[in-house]
Amino acid sequence: MLPNTGPSRPGPRQRGAGRRATNLPGASNRAGGGEQLQRQADYRNMAIALEEARLSLREGGIPIGAALCRREKLVGRGHNRRVQLGNPVLHGEMDCLQNAGRLGSYKGLTMYSTLMPCYMCAGTIVQFRIMRVVVGESASFAGGRDLMEAHGVEVVDLGMPECSQIMQSFIDANPVLWAEDIGEL
Ligand SMILES: [Zn+2]
Repeated sequence: MLPNTGPSRPGPRQRGAGRRATNLPGASNRAGGGEQLQRQADYRNMAIALEEARLSLREGGIPIGAALCRREKLVGRGHNRRVQLGNPVLHGEMDCLQNAGRLGSYKGLTMYSTLMPCYMCAGTIVQFRIMRVVVGESASFAGGRDLMEAHGVEVVDLGMPECSQIMQSFIDANPVLWAEDIGEL
């Protein structure tokens, strides 16, 4: 019966699950188990988005990747292909949604993006009611966080150095290409 690796649920007094195994210094004992599993899933899923960003860079494109997930389950993945396909709206999140195909409902899904979504992608996220967005960083670009939050979307910024590094070195080397991406040419 109950496998330890099941979906996270904030069960208060489970014997084996979170309490003993973690070596966290007791700070988050109450909601700790569920939150920690969520955070681990967030980093795992962000690694997929980062893989997509690197793939785009190898193709000569803008290094932004995205993944759409229902907890552990990957529903779609993609990367910015504006340069590769000459398509101005094919940002990482849009490519990811396109690759996921028609899903009907987006309930319970989280959009992962290596960079804070722009207003176009934020608008699409709001339109499809994707209520949770996790980003690798927002230091390179503030994007449409305010728009998403104004519509009740939970936005989590992991502040990952890997994500800002890949973006920063791209922007430094290709300022014009980047300015075009965010409508600041
Ligand atoms: Zn975008």
